[in-house]
Amino acid sequence: MTDHAVVISGGGPTGLMLAAELALAGIDVAIVERRASQDLVGSRAGGLHSRTLEVLDQRGIAERFLAEGQKTKATGFAGVHFDLSGLPTRHPYSLGLRQKHIERILAGWVDELKVPIYRGIEVTDIAQDDTGVDVELSDGGSLRAQYLVGCDGGRSLIRKAAGIAFPGSDPTTSNLIAEAELAETPPEWGIHRDALGIHSLGRVEYEIRDGKVVYADRGPVGILVTERQVGATGEPTLADLSKALIAVYGTDYGIHSPTWISRFTDATRQAEAYRKGRVLVAGDAAHIHPPDGGQGLQTGVQDAMNLGWKLAQVVKRASPERLLDTYHAERHPVGARVLRNAMAAVALRREDERIRALRDTMAELLGMEEPRKRFAAMLSGLDIHYDLGDGHPLLGRRMPDLDLDTVNGPRRVFTLLHDARPVLLNLGEPGGFNIAPWADRVQSIDAKYVGALELPAIGTVAAPMAVLIRPDGYVAWVGALTQLGLADALTNWFGPPAVA
Ligand SMILES: Cc1cc2nc3c(=O)[nH]c(=O)nc-3n(C[C@H](O)[C@H](O)[C@H](O)COP(=O)(O)OP(=O)(O)OC[C@H]3O[C@@H](n4cnc5c(N)ncnc54)[C@H](O)[C@@H]3O)c2cc1C
Repeated sequence: MTDHAVVISGGGPTGLMLAAELALAGIDVAIVERRASQDLVGSRAGGLHSRTLEVLDQRGIAERFLAEGQKTKATGFAGVHFDLSGLPTRHPYSLGLRQKHIERILAGWVDELKVPIYRGIEVTDIAQDDTGVDVELSDGGSLRAQYLVGCDGGRSLIRKAAGIAFPGSDPTTSNLIAEAELAETPPEWGIHRDALGIHSLGRVEYEIRDGKVVYADRGPVGILVTERQVGATGEPTLADLSKALIAVYGTDYGIHSPTWISRFTDATRQAEAYRKGRVLVAGDAAHIHPPDGGQGLQTGVQDAMNLGWKLAQVVKRASPERLLDTYHAERHPVGARVLRNAMAAVALRREDERIRALRDTMAELLGMEEPRKRFAAMLSGLDIHYDLGDGHPLLGRRMPDLDLDTVNGPRRVFTLLHDARPVLLNLGEPGGFNIAPWADRVQSIDAKYVGALELPAIGTVAAPMAVLIRPDGYVAWVGALTQLGLADALTNWFGPPAVA
């Protein structure tokens, strides 16, 4: 039996991000991944939203994604397109980049961090006791870990084996999604709506020009079609796809040579608890919802960012186990809100006069400046607010990536977070704060910043005198003229002071 401090079941986007976070904190972590390679069959997420780009920027790897993706200033909610302009971030756009590329780039980073990945192996069973978790593997071997994290997708074996309930709603609609050749050219490409739901035909290769999708002239076709029936089991076939196309378009356009066909539904469920003892769940293992709004991968990657540093501190015994409870407390409400808006979007997918009227009403609302700003902040993930009590508007919100003047020259806030270590950022009198008993864990940076701050969905706020920034980029404490509350915040988040 091999020992690791943390074992992650599943090396999709969530598992990869979590592994990287733990490795950055110096934790012995390993991934068990069913797939033999990182290759992803089929199409899933189509890109990254602003806050996900920011968290990648916080680790110094956003450029890797930006170099391969295409920026678009528009986003959609429930079939209504609106503009992301003016979001106060360095990344005021969505980045078009397919999940297979996102995973490839993340896996490259995890490789650099030397995280072992047991590939082509499944976790088949688990048993936890007071000191750790035994993890049974499909090759007959086993692993022992202090903590096990299920990042193993919507059908998570870890969630089920840990006995974590997954309440929510059953599917009301079912879609086939595929890539194939068409013998005939459809008279119209793009999205088509009817009483059944949403359908779309488009070349796989496309470019985004001036915020609009422009399809290639030739090549395989990406197909999305809503099925007449819900509840099909088993793998979808070419015959299923042909039948669904005929039901909608009156023809299957001579469909042939599929490279892959898969099915997704609008089932919407969320784990009742994100932690049970030494077992935690993150990403799709913790929440499933329809893909409307493109929020699943983003939420999973950000779950990982929230959990990684907390789990690292508990494993190092720098913080008590109860720090892990803040993972559920903070991320469950974020997941619940994603589920809610994705369900609302599904309700607006169909085409009948009343739904169209509701969509038009939404379009009218999102055409107004204030609702547009708020929805842009919500869908981009920039308005996430963890409830850390009352105080300055920055408390519990993401720290903006300010340009700072430090004794070592100009620095961006996000650059200070590259090593995933907390920062006490003092924008007041140099040397004004003494955090010597935490100096082994928390960086202390004196800097100058001129001007106010612009917060998504909130607007302009006065720059504080000092902030304590957690490794995930969220503000844990805001200081005025005194250190009031700083020692408590440091102890609460990063453990008790070191004994001199
Ligand atoms: C059609 C479609 C479109 C989507 N579009 C978007 C979008 O535009 N934007 C967005 O943000 N999200 C989108 N999503 C959602 C996104 O794909 C998921 O939220 C994301 O993949 C979740 O990542 P994850 O790592 O949590 O889980 P997964 O990606 O499901 O990864 C789980 C991993 O665990 C492995 N695994 C499973 N069981 C075991 C086991 N027992 N042992 C070992 N390994 C195991 C699997 O092989 C897999 O690699 C879309 C999804 C679909 C279906």
